[in-house]
Amino acid sequence: MKLSKTEIIEQRVELLGHYGSDETHAQSAWTSTSRTITEEKRLRIPSLIDMLIREGHHTPFEKSTLHFLVTCDQASHIHLLKHRIGVSINAESARYKELKEDRHYIPEDWPEFLKEQLKVMSDVTNMWYHDCIEKLTPTLGRKRAKETARFFKLMNSQVTMDVSFNFRSFMHFQGLRNSPHAQAEIRDIAKQMLELVENIEGKPFKHTIKSWKTHQSTATPTGGATLTQSAAHTRVPSGE
Ligand SMILES: Cc1cc2nc3c(=O)[nH]c(=O)nc-3n(C[C@H](O)[C@H](O)[C@H](O)COP(=O)(O)OP(=O)(O)OC[C@H]3O[C@@H](n4cnc5c(N)ncnc54)[C@H](O)[C@@H]3O)c2cc1C
Repeated sequence: MKLSKTEIIEQRVELLGHYGSDETHAQSAWTSTSRTITEEKRLRIPSLIDMLIREGHHTPFEKSTLHFLVTCDQASHIHLLKHRIGVSINAESARYKELKEDRHYIPEDWPEFLKEQLKVMSDVTNMWYHDCIEKLTPTLGRKRAKETARFFKLMNSQVTMDVSFNFRSFMHFQGLRNSPHAQAEIRDIAKQMLELVENIEGKPFKHTIKSWKTHQSTATPTGGATLTQSAAHTRVPSGE
């Protein structure tokens, strides 16, 4: 039986790329009159964006795209997959490859003895995972062995996901997941995403983010909780 070499990593988010800006949103809205940007019109971009968000004219924000690479536990994986509109997701496959790295997540807020127990369980189940592939392959073939051996893996196994949002769906995602009502792990991912976008060089989405934070109950169709609340890190159990 092969011993697994486990790696504990935190939830990790990287911004792979972005397209668009406040100006893209404004120009999209101005298509109804004239897309030509003059200096005088450029000065009106912050107020135009504010009006669009306040009044619920959100289609111009669909023109920008944000592209992330996320490494997360299985519960966060499921949370991300729940977002259907304006979100595109690809994830590494446990069907097509054997997950060699044995990455797993241990909650930081657990007491040490439980962290240790989960680590031991992760090591053991990862070992059984690789062993199961080895034992099933001669009879079932490597493909079936890989796709079923993963049933040994725990919910804290980490997966890497390629996630892109249009800016409108990103605002909606932030409203729901960068919220005290969301589980801490997905909230951490949402927070990291927002920080990355806020810190893009030149701050291309500065006015959109500012207005969206101001009018958040209208910026998300379901009126997600506010970002100021999320700073409190209140843990409210969700049914998800
Ligand atoms: C705190 C919390 C707890 C949760 N608990 C659970 C749980 O216990 N069980 C569970 O299964 N899920 C749970 N969820 C997931 C939740 O039900 C949604 O699936 C998830 O938040 C995605 O939201 P959404 O549908 O608004 O997003 P998207 O799928 O991205 O949709 C965006 C918006 O498009 C519109 N839309 C999308 N599809 C339709 C449609 N078919 N018809 C009409 N309008 C549509 C809606 O306005 C929607 O808000 C929870 C989410 C949160 C934040």
